[in-house]
Amino acid sequence: MENGAKIWSFKGNEELQSASEKTVRGFLNLLMENLNKDDHRPTVPLGHGDPSAFPSFRATDIAEDAIVDALRSAKYNCYAPTVGILPGRRSIADYLSRDLPYTLSPDDVYLTIGCTQAIEVMLTVLARPGANILLPRPGFPYYEARAACTHLEVRHFDLLPENGWEVDLQAVEALADHNTVAMVIINPGNPCGNVYSHQHLNKIAETARKFGILVISDEVYNHITFGSNPFVPMGTFGSIAPVITLGSISKRWSVPGWRCGWLVTNDPNGTLRKSGIVECIKGCLDVSSDPPTFIQGAIPQILENTKEDFFSKIINIIREAADLCYDRIKEIPCITCPYKPEGSMYAMVKLNLCLLEGIGDDLEFCLKLAKEESVIVLPGMAVGMKNWLRITIAIELSSLEDGLGRIKAFCQRHAKKE
Ligand SMILES: *Cc1c(COP(=O)(O)O)cnc(C)c1O
Repeated sequence: MENGAKIWSFKGNEELQSASEKTVRGFLNLLMENLNKDDHRPTVPLGHGDPSAFPSFRATDIAEDAIVDALRSAKYNCYAPTVGILPGRRSIADYLSRDLPYTLSPDDVYLTIGCTQAIEVMLTVLARPGANILLPRPGFPYYEARAACTHLEVRHFDLLPENGWEVDLQAVEALADHNTVAMVIINPGNPCGNVYSHQHLNKIAETARKFGILVISDEVYNHITFGSNPFVPMGTFGSIAPVITLGSISKRWSVPGWRCGWLVTNDPNGTLRKSGIVECIKGCLDVSSDPPTFIQGAIPQILENTKEDFFSKIINIIREAADLCYDRIKEIPCITCPYKPEGSMYAMVKLNLCLLEGIGDDLEFCLKLAKEESVIVLPGMAVGMKNWLRITIAIELSSLEDGLGRIKAFCQRHAKKE
């Protein structure tokens, strides 16, 4: 200490250092660092879930005008109430009620900073000492990361590729015990692109009822469907088991940067209210921040005025992308796609490592693919499925075609010689 140097002894929370390594962002950053700067071809981003920068996925001017009007009105320069402003909650209740056998009240709706904060709130609310939650595998790793932060025990049930990525309900039954508080489903699915049938959702509700647990249904991709199953909200079965629906405008309106989502209690029997969970949700929101008030103020116009052709144009592109991806992958021996996506924006494909030379696992595949072909694909380990890949299909079709061509060339170059 002679030179006066102070030794600082503070440290950060070590649990958070490792949390970021497990997120999609963490993996994508790692891959981006591995790109070859001397490759002058454009990078093909098949890893992330944000198509908003592509011209075909540009937000509708109806939504942009709604924001401008809300901002200019000077009515939304204030703090919003904890639960969100009433017109915003009312319009979300109306929007979601269109697909339900009962009507939601604005009091069932809480506005959140994207679907992300809705997940954070729910996992915080449920994290009583000893409690556990059942999560899908593969899934959306934010749930695992968030559960770790709140010390909520996670148990995984598998999704079954041979059954259109349906929930393995026998596994759910084997995992659930008296400390299980909830199970999570993501429908339409990320990362699998599945869309659950009315019948399967009904079975999920019956299973939840049997164990007295609630269903958290992440419907951030609601209505982004382009196959044989229409989108059915889990809330349809809210009288069988209580359902918490999570959603946002991020994906369907292609504005993830606007950070506005919702948490909705589908509770026609009043089970959640009686359990005290509703009070906990309010309490949790009381000690956190809110979506910007002018974004909340724009929600009614965005939900009520967006034209059907904005949605159908995007859905037609993703449908075409799903066909293209599925067909091209058939031509590549070292990867197989067991299920053509019918919703959301992703396809899960399996790596057949035994056909490849010098590639040990999915991460190595993705690192080399980034370096040699400037294509970013998410390794399956990021979503809980080692030696699979998640391919984002919501990008311009020409880029997708380019990317799949490069993946094919990469696989040919690394194929095991006879
Ligand atoms: C993108 C995504 C989210 C987060 O949505 P935001 O509204 O942008 O916070 C949540 N869940 C799943 C499954 C997602 O894919």
